[in-house]
Amino acid sequence: MSIIIAIDGYSSCGKSTVAKEVAKKLGYIYIDSGAMYRAVTLYCLRNGLAPGGVVNEEELRLHIDKIHIRLVFNPALQKHETFLNGENIEEEIRRPEVANLVSPVSIIGFVRDALVKQQREMGQNKGIIMDGRDIGTVVFPEAELKIFMTASPEVRAKRRYDELMAKGVHVEIEDIIHNIQDRDRIDSTREISPLRQADDAIVLDNSNLTREEQLDWVLEKAEERL
Ligand code: C5P
Repeated sequence: MSIIIAIDGYSSCGKSTVAKEVAKKLGYIYIDSGAMYRAVTLYCLRNGLAPGGVVNEEELRLHIDKIHIRLVFNPALQKHETFLNGENIEEEIRRPEVANLVSPVSIIGFVRDALVKQQREMGQNKGIIMDGRDIGTVVFPEAELKIFMTASPEVRAKRRYDELMAKGVHVEIEDIIHNIQDRDRIDSTREISPLRQADDAIVLDNSNLTREEQLDWVLEKAEERL
Protein backbone atom coordinates (compact mmCIF):
# COMPACT_ATOMS: atom_id res chain seq x y z
CA MET A 1 0.00 0.00 0.00
CA SER A 2 1.18 3.53 -0.74
CA ILE A 3 0.65 6.39 1.66
CA ILE A 4 0.84 10.19 1.68
CA ILE A 5 3.62 11.71 3.78
CA ALA A 6 3.27 15.38 4.73
CA ILE A 7 6.27 17.30 6.07
CA ASP A 8 5.69 20.78 7.40
CA GLY A 9 7.85 23.13 9.39
CA TYR A 10 9.77 26.38 9.60
CA SER A 11 12.05 27.72 6.88
CA SER A 12 15.40 26.01 6.37
CA CYS A 13 14.82 23.09 8.72
CA GLY A 14 16.03 20.59 6.15
CA LYS A 15 12.55 19.41 5.14
CA SER A 16 13.45 18.97 1.49
CA THR A 17 16.69 17.11 2.23
CA VAL A 18 14.95 14.42 4.23
CA ALA A 19 11.89 14.34 1.96
CA LYS A 20 14.04 13.69 -1.13
CA GLU A 21 15.91 10.88 0.58
CA VAL A 22 12.71 9.25 1.84
CA ALA A 23 11.18 9.49 -1.65
CA LYS A 24 14.21 7.77 -3.13
CA LYS A 25 14.14 4.95 -0.58
CA LEU A 26 10.41 4.31 -0.95
CA GLY A 27 10.20 4.99 -4.69
CA TYR A 28 7.75 7.83 -3.98
CA ILE A 29 7.17 11.08 -5.83
CA TYR A 30 8.67 14.07 -4.02
CA ILE A 31 6.97 17.45 -4.31
CA ASP A 32 8.57 20.64 -3.00
CA SER A 33 5.48 22.82 -2.56
CA GLY A 34 7.66 25.81 -1.59
CA ALA A 35 9.15 25.71 -5.11
CA MET A 36 5.65 26.35 -6.48
CA TYR A 37 5.19 29.47 -4.33
CA ARG A 38 8.69 30.55 -5.33
CA ALA A 39 7.81 30.09 -9.02
CA VAL A 40 4.77 32.38 -8.68
CA THR A 41 7.01 34.89 -6.89
CA LEU A 42 9.57 34.81 -9.70
CA TYR A 43 6.75 35.36 -12.19
CA CYS A 44 5.71 38.48 -10.21
CA LEU A 45 9.27 39.82 -10.17
CA ARG A 46 9.78 39.25 -13.88
CA ASN A 47 6.49 40.82 -14.86
CA GLY A 48 6.66 43.90 -12.68
CA LEU A 49 3.82 42.69 -10.46
CA ALA A 50 5.58 43.67 -7.23
CA PRO A 51 6.80 47.24 -7.66
CA GLY A 52 8.80 48.36 -4.62
CA GLY A 53 8.37 44.91 -3.06
CA VAL A 54 4.59 45.24 -2.78
CA VAL A 55 2.55 42.64 -4.66
CA ASN A 56 -0.09 44.11 -6.95
CA GLU A 57 -2.80 41.56 -6.18
CA GLU A 58 -5.30 42.75 -8.76
CA GLU A 59 -2.72 42.53 -11.56
CA LEU A 60 -1.53 39.13 -10.35
CA ARG A 61 -5.12 37.87 -10.34
CA LEU A 62 -5.28 38.60 -14.09
CA HIS A 63 -2.13 36.56 -14.65
CA ILE A 64 -2.71 33.57 -12.36
CA ASP A 65 -4.13 31.30 -15.08
CA LYS A 66 -1.08 31.99 -17.23
CA ILE A 67 1.33 30.62 -14.62
CA HIS A 68 2.08 26.96 -15.31
CA ILE A 69 4.42 25.16 -12.96
CA ARG A 70 5.89 21.69 -13.33
CA LEU A 71 8.24 19.81 -11.03
CA VAL A 72 10.36 17.29 -12.90
CA PHE A 73 12.93 14.80 -11.68
CA ASN A 74 16.12 15.00 -13.75
CA PRO A 75 17.64 11.50 -13.65
CA ALA A 76 20.96 12.67 -15.12
CA LEU A 77 21.48 15.16 -12.28
CA GLN A 78 19.57 13.08 -9.73
CA LYS A 79 17.60 16.13 -8.67
CA HIS A 80 14.25 17.80 -9.01
CA GLU A 81 13.86 20.87 -11.15
CA THR A 82 11.13 23.47 -11.28
CA PHE A 83 9.76 24.74 -14.59
CA LEU A 84 7.78 27.93 -15.08
CA ASN A 85 5.91 28.04 -18.39
CA GLY A 86 8.39 25.55 -19.85
CA GLU A 87 11.56 27.25 -18.59
CA ASN A 88 13.85 25.66 -16.02
CA ILE A 89 13.94 28.14 -13.12
CA GLU A 90 15.32 25.87 -10.42
CA GLU A 91 18.42 27.99 -9.77
CA GLU A 92 16.68 31.33 -9.97
CA ILE A 93 13.95 30.59 -7.42
CA ARG A 94 16.57 29.93 -4.71
CA ARG A 95 17.93 33.47 -4.98
CA PRO A 96 17.52 36.03 -2.15
CA GLU A 97 15.27 38.32 -4.28
CA VAL A 98 12.74 35.49 -4.48
CA ALA A 99 13.18 34.44 -0.82
CA ASN A 100 12.47 38.03 0.23
CA LEU A 101 9.14 38.25 -1.60
CA VAL A 102 7.82 34.70 -1.38
CA SER A 103 6.02 35.00 1.98
CA PRO A 104 4.03 38.11 0.96
CA VAL A 105 3.01 36.28 -2.25
CA SER A 106 2.03 33.20 -0.23
CA ILE A 107 -0.53 35.03 1.90
CA ILE A 108 -2.74 35.68 -1.16
CA GLY A 109 -5.84 33.47 -1.13
CA PHE A 110 -6.23 32.93 -4.88
CA VAL A 111 -2.54 31.98 -5.21
CA ARG A 112 -2.97 29.35 -2.49
CA ASP A 113 -6.21 28.05 -4.03
CA ALA A 114 -4.53 27.55 -7.41
CA LEU A 115 -1.47 25.80 -5.98
CA VAL A 116 -3.34 23.64 -3.44
CA LYS A 117 -5.59 22.38 -6.26
CA GLN A 118 -2.54 21.26 -8.25
CA GLN A 119 -0.91 19.73 -5.17
CA ARG A 120 -4.01 17.63 -4.44
CA GLU A 121 -4.05 16.38 -8.01
CA MET A 122 -0.42 15.31 -7.64
CA GLY A 123 -1.36 13.25 -4.57
CA GLN A 124 -4.35 11.50 -6.14
CA ASN A 125 -2.58 8.14 -6.42
CA LYS A 126 -0.73 8.43 -3.09
CA GLY A 127 2.91 7.27 -3.03
CA ILE A 128 3.87 10.91 -2.53
CA ILE A 129 5.88 12.92 -0.03
CA MET A 130 5.29 16.67 -0.01
CA ASP A 131 6.97 19.31 2.10
CA GLY A 132 5.72 22.80 2.90
CA ARG A 133 3.80 24.76 5.52
CA ASP A 134 0.18 23.60 5.21
CA ILE A 135 0.50 20.09 3.81
CA GLY A 136 -0.71 18.19 6.90
CA THR A 137 -3.30 20.81 7.85
CA VAL A 138 -4.84 21.89 4.52
CA VAL A 139 -3.52 20.10 1.43
CA PHE A 140 -3.69 16.52 2.75
CA PRO A 141 -5.46 16.53 6.13
CA GLU A 142 -5.98 12.78 5.60
CA ALA A 143 -2.23 12.04 5.11
CA GLU A 144 -1.23 8.80 6.81
CA LEU A 145 2.02 10.28 8.13
CA LYS A 146 2.47 13.90 9.18
CA ILE A 147 5.76 15.25 10.40
CA PHE A 148 6.39 18.69 11.82
CA MET A 149 10.06 19.61 11.58
CA THR A 150 11.94 22.09 13.70
CA ALA A 151 15.57 22.98 14.33
CA SER A 152 17.25 25.75 16.29
CA PRO A 153 17.43 29.14 14.48
CA GLU A 154 21.26 29.06 14.50
CA VAL A 155 21.40 25.63 12.89
CA ARG A 156 18.86 26.66 10.26
CA ALA A 157 20.66 29.90 9.33
CA LYS A 158 24.00 28.11 9.06
CA ARG A 159 22.52 25.42 6.80
CA ARG A 160 20.94 27.93 4.44
CA TYR A 161 24.14 30.02 4.40
CA ASP A 162 26.31 26.99 3.52
CA GLU A 163 23.84 25.90 0.85
CA LEU A 164 23.84 29.30 -0.91
CA MET A 165 27.61 29.79 -0.65
CA ALA A 166 28.15 26.32 -2.14
CA LYS A 167 26.06 27.47 -5.12
CA GLY A 168 28.19 30.59 -5.44
CA VAL A 169 25.44 32.93 -4.19
CA HIS A 170 27.24 35.39 -1.92
CA VAL A 171 25.25 36.30 1.19
CA GLU A 172 25.70 37.67 4.71
CA ILE A 173 24.69 35.40 7.58
CA GLU A 174 22.78 38.31 9.22
CA ASP A 175 20.65 38.70 6.10
CA ILE A 176 19.86 34.99 6.15
CA ILE A 177 18.81 35.17 9.81
CA HIS A 178 16.53 38.15 9.07
CA ASN A 179 14.98 36.41 6.08
CA ILE A 180 14.30 33.22 8.04
CA GLN A 181 12.77 35.18 10.93
CA ASP A 182 10.63 37.29 8.61
CA ARG A 183 9.33 34.31 6.69
CA ASP A 184 8.55 32.35 9.86
CA ARG A 185 6.65 35.32 11.26
CA ILE A 186 4.61 35.94 8.11
CA ASP A 187 4.03 32.21 7.47
CA SER A 188 2.78 31.47 10.98
CA THR A 189 0.62 34.55 11.47
CA ARG A 190 -1.11 34.80 8.07
CA GLU A 191 -4.87 34.45 7.98
CA ILE A 192 -5.14 31.71 5.37
CA SER A 193 -3.47 28.34 6.03
CA PRO A 194 -0.89 29.55 8.54
CA LEU A 195 2.06 27.34 9.37
CA ARG A 196 1.04 25.25 12.36
CA GLN A 197 1.54 21.76 13.61
CA ALA A 198 -1.39 19.48 12.72
CA ASP A 199 -2.94 17.86 15.80
CA ASP A 200 -1.88 14.42 14.61
CA ALA A 201 1.63 15.38 13.42
CA ILE A 202 4.77 13.99 15.03
CA VAL A 203 7.54 16.48 15.83
CA LEU A 204 11.03 15.93 14.46
CA ASP A 205 13.68 18.26 15.89
CA ASN A 206 16.77 17.61 13.84
CA SER A 207 19.11 20.18 15.45
CA ASN A 208 21.34 17.42 16.72
CA LEU A 209 20.64 14.62 14.26
CA THR A 210 22.77 13.51 11.33
CA ARG A 211 21.18 13.08 7.90
CA GLU A 212 21.23 9.32 8.33
CA GLU A 213 19.59 9.48 11.75
CA GLN A 214 16.73 11.66 10.57
CA LEU A 215 16.24 9.54 7.46
CA ASP A 216 16.01 6.37 9.58
CA TRP A 217 13.59 8.10 11.94
CA VAL A 218 11.20 9.05 9.12
CA LEU A 219 11.50 5.66 7.38
CA GLU A 220 10.64 3.89 10.61
CA LYS A 221 7.50 6.00 11.05
CA ALA A 222 6.55 5.44 7.40
CA GLU A 223 7.00 1.67 7.61
CA GLU A 224 4.68 1.52 10.62
CA ARG A 225 1.97 2.95 8.37
CA LEU A 226 2.55 1.01 5.15
O1 C5P B 1 9.89 25.64 1.53
P1 C5P B 1 10.42 26.99 1.10
O2 C5P B 1 11.25 27.64 2.16
O3 C5P B 1 11.08 26.95 -0.22
O4 C5P B 1 9.10 27.88 0.93
C1 C5P B 1 9.17 29.23 0.53
C2 C5P B 1 7.96 29.99 1.05
O5 C5P B 1 6.78 29.53 0.37
C3 C5P B 1 7.64 29.86 2.53
O6 C5P B 1 8.38 30.75 3.34
C4 C5P B 1 6.15 30.16 2.56
O7 C5P B 1 5.93 31.57 2.55
C5 C5P B 1 5.65 29.62 1.23
N1 C5P B 1 5.03 28.31 1.35
C6 C5P B 1 3.70 28.24 1.75
N2 C5P B 1 3.06 27.03 1.80
C7 C5P B 1 3.70 25.92 1.45
C8 C5P B 1 5.06 25.95 1.05
C9 C5P B 1 5.71 27.17 1.03
O8 C5P B 1 3.10 29.26 2.07
N3 C5P B 1 3.03 24.76 1.47
